[in-house]
Formats: sequence, C-alpha cells, structure tokens
Amino acid sequence: MLAYGREDVVHLEIGEPDFATPRHVVAAGDLTLATHNRYTPSAGIPALRTAVAGRLHQHYGLNDDPDSVVISQGAVQGLAAVMTVLLEPGDEVLVPDPAWPNYEMQALLLGARPVRYPLRPERSFRPDPLEVASLVTDRTRVLVINSPSNPTGAVLEPGLVRALVEIAVERDLVVIADEVYDQIIFDGVHANAAAMAPESVVSVFSFSKTYAMTGSRVGYLTGPSWLVPTVARVQEPLLSSISAAAQASALAALEGPQDVVGRMVSTYRERRDLVVDRLRSAGLTVEAPAGAFYLMLPLVAGADSRLAALDLVHRGVALAPGTAFGDTARSHLRLSLASSAQQLSTGLDRFLDWYEATS
Ligand code: PLP
Repeated sequence: MLAYGREDVVHLEIGEPDFATPRHVVAAGDLTLATHNRYTPSAGIPALRTAVAGRLHQHYGLNDDPDSVVISQGAVQGLAAVMTVLLEPGDEVLVPDPAWPNYEMQALLLGARPVRYPLRPERSFRPDPLEVASLVTDRTRVLVINSPSNPTGAVLEPGLVRALVEIAVERDLVVIADEVYDQIIFDGVHANAAAMAPESVVSVFSFSKTYAMTGSRVGYLTGPSWLVPTVARVQEPLLSSISAAAQASALAALEGPQDVVGRMVSTYRERRDLVVDRLRSAGLTVEAPAGAFYLMLPLVAGADSRLAALDLVHRGVALAPGTAFGDTARSHLRLSLASSAQQLSTGLDRFLDWYEATS
C-alpha cells in the first residue's frame, strides 16, 4: 500500500520556475498575436537582437553588434544549431558528468561521440582542468561547460572558467558555454566565457529561467564571427523563424523592469537557505548551491539513486535521480528549489524520514 495517495506527492524534481510569467511579458506576446502574427527573420527580430546585444555589452563587455547574436527557440535549439554547424560524425564532444542530458543527446543525434568529464562531489562538483585536458584527442571538437550548473547548482569561479577556455584555445576546440542560469546567482559572480576568448567560445542564454517563461521557448547565443553567421543561416532550414509573439514577450522582458528577476532570485535564495539548514541540522553533508535552483542530496555511498527515487515517490516526494545526469552523480538526488517553502518543508520531512529509516 502507498504511504501517501498519488495526488499527495510533493514534486521537487521539476526543472522550471514555479513563478507566474510577469504580466507585461504576457501582454506583449498577446498584442503581437492580435496585430502581427507573422513570420520573422530567421535569426530573430532585429529589435530583440539589438536589445540582447546591448545586454551582453552592458553585463559582460561583449561587442554590441546585433549581428553577433542569434535568437533561438529556447537555449536547447541554440545549442543544437551550434552543434549542427560544428560537428561531423565521429567528432568527440567533452560533456560534464553530471550534466543536463540534452548535450549528450544532441551530440549523439549528429553521430558525434560524447565523452564525459567528471564533476566530482568531493571537488564541490567542479571540473579538474588537468583531467579535462587529458581527455582531449585528435577527434575532440567541442568542450561543453555549464555554470551555474544544472543539476549541481555549482557556480564556477572566473579562474576555473578561464582555465577551461585556455585548454580549448590551446587545443583548437570550441567551447559551448551554457549560461542559461547566468542571472540566478546567490553567491559569487557569473563568469561569462565568451568574453574570455570571443573567437573560441559560444555562450548560450535563455529567457526561460530568468523571466519564468519556459513555455515561450526563447533563447539566444553569441560567439565567434566565423561561426555566428553560419548558425544564423541554419536557423532558416531548421525552423524558418521562431514565434513572433514569443519574441515580443522576450523583448518586453528585457526592456521592462528587472526587479522581477531580483525578487525571484531572493526567493530561491531563501528556499536554498531553508533546505540547506534543515539538511545540515539532520546531519547530512550538502553543498549549498551558489546558483541555478537545484541542490544535490547525497545518499549513502554506492546507493542507486534511481531505486531511491522510486522508493521516495511512494513516500510522497518526487526527486530526480542523479543517474539521469550521469554516472558521477549516481548516489545523489537532485532537489529543485522551484517549489514553495511549504512544499519544500513537507518534501524534506518525507525525505528525511525515509533517509533515517534506510541508512
Ligand atoms: N541548459 C540547461 C543547463 C538547462 O537546465 C535547461 C533547461 O532546463 C536548458 C539549457 C534549456 O533551456 P531553454 O528552455 O531555454 O531551452
């Protein structure tokens, strides 16, 4: 018999904001639907490319030329377009482990070979640049980095990002830096990788998490002058153009008040503190995430997180198994902070009851 009815399960496995999309963002999309629901240029509407280039210039000192920016259908499609341009069958792609699963799937779809580099829990989920360098072969074409990280919440220090970028420059690789959580930072600063080596790095961003608008599917990227025009061109056969209404919403998000972002980040931070305090007082050793909205819960060494996650659903709390993100996190569960403090507390009660009973 289930300990809790199904409808009673607390969902802490979900990777998208639980906040409403800001009203002015929704209104801008609605207006476009009513007045100008048409195809747009395949690299994005000029006003949005200009606003994005302005933001990247202001935040990271990147060049403010709109032609250096491509608007994509979410970061996921921007990543796929870049990989499509860069990769040939048999090429190798260095991918973090644990990582958001799509990098590996995208590489495989193109006939490329993902090669994992570990983000070990004992190194606070940070890569070891020497280990990354040792995995580079004659076939390596791309090095993927992701900070702030999904699933670990780790924010890589600027020096560490620079060390990874330097490996790519020395070995003639392209870095694809997934920076979709660049504005969700609790401690430290976000290191933009493109600013460190503009001709070797593509930085990929998203409106999804920053403005709680995952369903609009708008992202963007910037990168080398030898690469971005080709990425812009492949957008035409890949998708013709992305939704006009979604781009209008994204433009309103960028041009509108930014305190909405600050409020969401403060709420995630409060939830992070609540969860970390609770787990530490129960005697668990957890890394406090410095960004994104995830936290890795350690199980006993060697435990299978997939089985643990199944067991926990019957106890009324859903968490994502570390195995979904790679082998290095097989004994961790990912908890998402995109739930209310109340749900987090209930979920933690259930998790800790289970943990104490089974460890
Ligand atoms: N990159 C990472 C690390 C993510 O966690 C996600 C979404 O979960 C994405 C990219 C995809 O973002 P988008 O909604 O912009 O496609």
